[in-house]
Amino acid sequence: MRQQKIDLHSYTSIGIGPKVDVLLPESEEDLFSFSEQKIIGNGTNLLIDENFNSNLICMNHLDSLEINENLIYAESGVLLSRLIGTCIRKGLNGLSALAGIPGSIGGLIYMNAGNIGKNSSLKKIRCFTKEKGVYDIDVPREKFSYRKSPFSDDVIIVGAFFEMKKSYGERVFEDVKKAILNKKQTQPIFEKSFGSVFKNPESVSAWKLIERCGLKGKEKGDAMISRKHCNFIVNRGNASFSDVMYLIELCMEKVYNEFSIMLEKEVVVLRGLNR
Ligand SMILES: Cc1cc2nc3c(=O)[nH]c(=O)nc-3n(C[C@H](O)[C@H](O)[C@H](O)COP(=O)(O)OP(=O)(O)OC[C@H]3O[C@@H](n4cnc5c(N)ncnc54)[C@H](O)[C@@H]3O)c2cc1C
Repeated sequence: MRQQKIDLHSYTSIGIGPKVDVLLPESEEDLFSFSEQKIIGNGTNLLIDENFNSNLICMNHLDSLEINENLIYAESGVLLSRLIGTCIRKGLNGLSALAGIPGSIGGLIYMNAGNIGKNSSLKKIRCFTKEKGVYDIDVPREKFSYRKSPFSDDVIIVGAFFEMKKSYGERVFEDVKKAILNKKQTQPIFEKSFGSVFKNPESVSAWKLIERCGLKGKEKGDAMISRKHCNFIVNRGNASFSDVMYLIELCMEKVYNEFSIMLEKEVVVLRGLNR
């Protein structure tokens, strides 16, 4: 198994983080040699403190993709964009509505991004734990909820089995284009961010609450609450972990004071010691 120093400042989509030692499993066998460490996928839903200095396991080298007619096995490090590109070429539909989410298959399932846990194309999930080793499970659909999967931190998602609907490449391409266009119009997808900062409370969108508190465009250092979508914080240059945390806490405080609603973070925050 490879070990490498990775600069999380350039690896994560928000562009914040230290250089750390990262273990890069390249096969299922490699997973057996880990002790308890934090997993990262493609780093698109993470905010990592510059003082964070634990080892990480990065799943992006476990990235083989097997296709047999409309059946697909994707290892956890396969990016959704690559899987969707393959589906366009092969004329396979089922995941097009998720196009534009920049995560890996492992991150997607762990975060239940795009509600993947309820997607009927996803048939089985391959998992790993120290106790059980590698094992496959049927998708426990009822246990997935909004931005939440049933997996605890000791489970590594190794891969996923999909059964896609046969279609036509042009048709799949059109569906994908529609999903990406919708994202382009509503989200700052060309700026550095980690996607939505907060989960939407039950009856209202988090961005509306933040906007109503007058926080649109609010800045701290190079971090800014996006003018395009108030539930995004963008890094316009050299924003630090504390700049972003300041804005996150400000949103939580103002929204609570104004509406008595406690916003819950969607972004996964990895803090360093003493923070
Ligand atoms: C511009 C932009 C748009 C976005 N749009 C959306 C959207 O529309 N909908 C949406 O839901 N999300 C969206 N996101 C958020 C993000 O892309 C998703 O949550 C994505 O699924 C995270 O995947 P990742 O591989 O980057 O995971 P990471 O950010 O690397 O990790 C996220 C979490 O998943 C865990 N994890 C990752 N891989 C594994 C694994 N193999 N096994 C166990 N745990 C694992 C990590 O420990 C961490 O807790 C967006 C982000 C950006 C930057």
